[in-house]
Amino acid sequence: MVGSSFRVMVIGGGIGGLCLAQGLKKAGVPVSVFERDQTPTSRLQGYRIHVSPRGASALRECLPEGLWSAFEASCGRAPHSFRFLTHRMQELLRVATPGDAPGGRHYSASRARLRQALLEGLDGILHFDRAFSRYEEEPDGPIRAFFDDGRTAEGNVLVGADGGKSRVRNQFLPGAQRVDTGIRAIGGKVILTDEVRSKLPPALLESPALVRAPGGRAMFLAVQEIGGPDGSVLEGDAALRFEDESSYLMWALSARGDRSGFPSTHGEMSDEELRAFALRACSGWHPGFSAMIQSSDPASLSVIAVRTSVPVSPWPTGRITLIGDAIHSMTPYRGIGGNVALRDAALLSHNLIAAHRAEIPLPLAIRDYESAMLDYGFRAVRSSLRAAEQAHTTGALAFRLGNLAFRALNAIPPLKARILRQVDAD
Ligand SMILES: Cc1cc2nc3c(=O)[nH]c(=O)nc-3n(C[C@H](O)[C@H](O)[C@H](O)COP(=O)(O)OP(=O)(O)OC[C@H]3O[C@@H](n4cnc5c(N)ncnc54)[C@H](O)[C@@H]3O)c2cc1C
Repeated sequence: MVGSSFRVMVIGGGIGGLCLAQGLKKAGVPVSVFERDQTPTSRLQGYRIHVSPRGASALRECLPEGLWSAFEASCGRAPHSFRFLTHRMQELLRVATPGDAPGGRHYSASRARLRQALLEGLDGILHFDRAFSRYEEEPDGPIRAFFDDGRTAEGNVLVGADGGKSRVRNQFLPGAQRVDTGIRAIGGKVILTDEVRSKLPPALLESPALVRAPGGRAMFLAVQEIGGPDGSVLEGDAALRFEDESSYLMWALSARGDRSGFPSTHGEMSDEELRAFALRACSGWHPGFSAMIQSSDPASLSVIAVRTSVPVSPWPTGRITLIGDAIHSMTPYRGIGGNVALRDAALLSHNLIAAHRAEIPLPLAIRDYESAMLDYGFRAVRSSLRAAEQAHTTGALAFRLGNLAFRALNAIPPLKARILRQVDAD
């Protein structure tokens, strides 16, 4: 299908939606993105994000080469390993992550920088302050999107990239379910000044780690070291300058079960109450954890109710489809949701470009994307849920056996290598 009738409307300008728009724009496919936020910086975009080799190659495929180089140069030092620790800060397991193996680099990116790269050059394509409400589809006519402020837009493909609470999915696949895992997390960020670094144990400032604690509790830790080149490389005369930020340590303390007492929403406790709650929840742990929580910026404290999605059966392919969290939202315990959204964006972009060039019919382009995505997307959902459950073992015996298994695995390098291959597959 070539010509003026081909226009892709993307609802949601997050990781997946922007990456898709970049890929389509690069190939000259008409695309518009509608984002409910009022400005590019309306919302704190979270902290760091681990970009896996597959996520990186999807991003590279969609971004113009100069922009990719700028983003790559802006990434923090890639972690050399991922660790599992006890709440007494003893190491249970360390899995090395490859550095610069061909096609295999892991990146530790600042979310703000990733977003800045994804937003670059989308003037006239990305429309802010457009909260999508619903769509109407005429069998042989355009698809019309309606927005909360009464405005409308038309196109002949509609992509829901509007995240876990997707309104596009609610209308398109009303039976698709997003469910609560019962896991609650309190997150915070510690700015790493020299003074703060001197107060914290070195084990906290190393590579990312998951802390296993008794009573169904866990803590995720990740350091983001900002430094090195500022990523001011771009094609042509343009220059992408990332606002420099400070290095930081982010943590997320979590628990499973109704009796954990953890809040479900941010409004339930003030920032100081949240901090006091987190300190109580870590009593009996290595004192370094309390020092870290005490040093956290109160404004950074947040509450996350961890959700997952239920696998969806294939549906009859049409001109409406979904990418990223809008279809396969997953727990953050494998740190892959964003990478899978990038993979969706690259694959859908590739297929829509082929349809735009009349190389394949549009329904086939979308069906091919959907059948691959439903397979790898829900595999990622299942493995993220398993990781969340393993991190929050509730029974005392199961917890001790789990620690024993991690120690045994640490002593058997071939088994560790297998885990690494699995991580790289995502
Ligand atoms: C604590 C935490 C840590 C994580 N760490 C990692 C990690 O290290 N690596 C990783 O790969 N993943 C990670 N993830 C997961 C990752 O953040 C998500 O999977 C990813 O953001 C999904 O991208 P998306 O584009 O599908 O959705 P989003 O990034 O959520 O974007 C959706 C966009 O749609 C917009 N929108 C919503 N509704 C509307 C509407 N009605 N109209 C218009 N616009 C709308 C939103 O404002 C938003 O901009 C983490 C998640 C959490 C919670």
